[in-house]
Formats: sequence, structure tokens, C-alpha cells
Amino acid sequence: MAVERTLSIIKPDATRRNLTGKILARFEEAGLRIVAQKRLRLTREQAERFYAVHSERSFYDDLCDYMISGPVVAQVIVGENAIALIREIMGATNPANAAPGTIRAEFGESIEANSVHGSDSPETAEFEIGFLFSGIEIIG
Ligand code: GDP
Repeated sequence: MAVERTLSIIKPDATRRNLTGKILARFEEAGLRIVAQKRLRLTREQAERFYAVHSERSFYDDLCDYMISGPVVAQVIVGENAIALIREIMGATNPANAAPGTIRAEFGESIEANSVHGSDSPETAEFEIGFLFSGIEIIG
């Protein structure tokens, strides 16, 4: 297994309910390290660019509206097999299908407001990290 870096976002439904600390604890307890972090309110244009890969999907507009509905907390996370590990800890996209004990099973409100984002591949991770962070903000 390789040491990887990935991007996670605590989404507006979770920041609204003060779940930031509880979600971050799941990552740290799994042995992952948070090497950069910021709280921000995405603009509509930033949300559209971040999710551009989904621009043809029926839920794209709703997703972008939801992602700008409140503050988010974004972090760069590093560790062994970090990309797959974070996605395992998050659980399936739809909280109704997420395995018991996962973040989305425990905290997700709906298939859209599912509390957390995690990059799905090394290529996506590098795009997403570069989109939200500059090199000097990432401290290993
Ligand atoms: P992820 O990798 O598990 O986050 O899932 P995707 O990359 O497929 O989708 C990105 C995000 O779009 C999800 O995390 C949800 O917030 C949202 N989403 C996915 N599928 C749907 C859907 O069918 N309806 C709505 N409203 N939102 C969705």
C-alpha cells in the first residue's frame, strides 16, 4: 500500500449540526493525518467547477445549491491507502445504503446532504487539493 493524499470536505449539513469534530475524529482514529484545513463558504462558481465532472447529471444544480447553502470545512488528509480508507469510513453515497458505523450512515440526512466528501481517485484528489489549497498551506 502506498501513502496517498486526498481531499475531504465536511459538507453544509454537517457544519450546521456542529459535527465537524466528530467527523474529523473518525479520520484521525483511523490513523490518517490532517495536513491542511480551512473553513470556507464556496461561491456558486467554485461549487460548479469543483463538481464539473457531474455537470451532465440531473442533480448537478441541486448539488451546487446545496454545497453553497452553508460553510464547509475542507482538509487535505495523508496516510496509507488514504483515498480508499476515507471512502470506507464515509460509507455509500446514499446514507440509506451506507454500512452501519460509517459517517454517512450515522450522520447523513439524504443522498445529497450526506455530510462528507472524499476524493475518489489519485487524479481527482490532486485536482481537488489544488483547487482548494496552495502548496504553502499543506504542512506534513
Ligand atoms: P460520492 O463520491 O459518494 O460523494 O458520490 P458522487 O461522486 O456520485 O456524487 C457527488 C455528490 O453528489 C454526492 O456526495 C451527493 O452529495 C450528490 N449526489 C449523488 N447522487 C445524487 C442524487 O441522485 N441526487 C442528489 N440530489 N444528489 C446526489
